[in-house]
Parts: sequence; C-alpha cells; structure tokens
Amino acid sequence: MTDSSAQFLSEHQELAPGDSFRFACHPGVSCFGACCSALDLMITPYDALRLRHTTGQRAREFIALFANLLAMPEVGLPMLHMRMLADARHHCPFMRDTGCAVYQDRPSACRTYPLGRATQRGPEGEVVERVFMAREAHCRGFDAGTDFDAGAWMHDQGLEPYNRANDRYMALAEDLRAFETLTGQGMGQKQLGMAGLALYQPDEFQPFLAQSGLMDRLEMTETRKNDVLNDEEACLDFGYDWLELSLMGHTEHLRPKDQKG
Ligand code: SF4
Ligand code: SF4
Repeated sequence: MTDSSAQFLSEHQELAPGDSFRFACHPGVSCFGACCSALDLMITPYDALRLRHTTGQRAREFIALFANLLAMPEVGLPMLHMRMLADARHHCPFMRDTGCAVYQDRPSACRTYPLGRATQRGPEGEVVERVFMAREAHCRGFDAGTDFDAGAWMHDQGLEPYNRANDRYMALAEDLRAFETLTGQGMGQKQLGMAGLALYQPDEFQPFLAQSGLMDRLEMTETRKNDVLNDEEACLDFGYDWLELSLMGHTEHLRPKDQKG
C-alpha cells in the first residue's frame, strides 16, 4: 500500500464486506461534472492503454498531450498523472458539457469514485483489498439511486479488468520496495527507461521485442509470443512478467530458457 493510499484510508470511511450505499450519477444531478476538475488523477498503465482506445493515439503522443510523467514515491517506477487544463477551474482535458468524452475507457479512479480502493499483499502473496468511501459534500449522487455494496459497484463500473491489471502494477511496486530494502539496490536510469517502455508504451515495446529477439531467450509458446506482438493488453501483461524477472530475478509466469526447475 502506498503512503497516499494509507492516508486516504485514514481520512475516509472504510466499507466492510456487505456494507451498502445508495448512489446514482447522471447528467440530471445538479453537480454534474463537478468532480472532473483540479484532480490529482493517476493514470495506471492499463488506464493509459484503455484511454488510447478512445483517443486513437500512439502512446508517445498521448503522454505528450495529456499526462505528466512522475515517479512513484520510494520506488521510482514510472507513473502518469492526468495533466489538468490551465483554465480557471483546471478541468480534466476530457470533460465536456455533455459529460466525459472518454467514458467507455475512463480511468479506474473515475470508475471507482465515490469509492477508493487500496491493495497490499497478504501472507500467502494474495491481494488483500480495502475499500473506502469518499462522501464529499458537493456530490449529490448520494441523494437517490440504487443500493450497491463494493463488489456490485465495481462490477457495475466495469472495473474487473482494471483492478486485475492495476493489482500487478501495485504488486510490482511493493516487490521493488521490498527488494530495495533487502539489497539496498534501487532502479537505475536504464531500468527506469525500460520500465516506462514496457508499462506505458506497449506500441513501442512491441517492435523492440520483435527486433531484439528478447522473447526467444525465454520459455514462451509461439502463441504467447504472437499475442504479445499483436495485442497491447498481452504485451502489458508480458511487460509485468519481464520486469519482475529482470528487476528481481524471478517471476511466476516467465523463465529464461536455460533455467531448470
Ligand atoms: S476522464 Fe472523464 S470521468 Fe475522469 S476526470 Fe476526466 S472527464 Fe471526468
Ligand atoms: S460530484 Fe458526484 S454526482 Fe456529481 S458528477 Fe461527480 S460523481 Fe456524479
């Protein structure tokens, strides 16, 4: 769990399993769009990939136009944040009078709101999830609507693939933090650059993989290699495996060809 997640949790009501809330957000609410400005909005690697489905841009162009590239605190892992406009209210660049211009591919934080989600590893390496509620005074969504518990809300907002992918991002950060504590070794500039390519620029990572022959040195089926080269989601998934292997020396899903056992 990051420090900022821990801070959110300490400041907001945590939802226990089965706790429910009533909520509806739609163009008819008086506050419509009020939550889409002056945000510190993290764009995870999967968020960026999905946003580009709608914008149709190359990753490099998307980042240049819409994002600030930061480093995850303590770990240094590349992390994008949405760049708010320089207008009076610092609107999100995708906010329109009619709503969100990228609604079908909106980022996970926008989908999760008014809830927030923090994860950490359990004793068996499993993902332990905590969910909290941001009940902000300006948000009229709580005035009426449907009853949801956390699971029903996540399903309603199409969050399953986002949570699955984002959990890998947070797990990689957690592993890197633990590795650095153990060995005193952080990520170097070259490794940071490769992490940025693998996580946020799958459209450039794919030709790199094709030309470098990197996958030929790994235990991989031809089907998986083809998927990685032709499907950005498969490429991102491979990117996590490869970063775990190259940064920490092991991963559950990938093995160098000469490694036995
Ligand atoms: S991406 Fe869409 S939902 Fe998220 S802050 Fe921007 S306009 Fe609002
Ligand atoms: S403030 Fe709440 S109800 Fe209003 S637009 Fe945002 S999420 Fe919807």
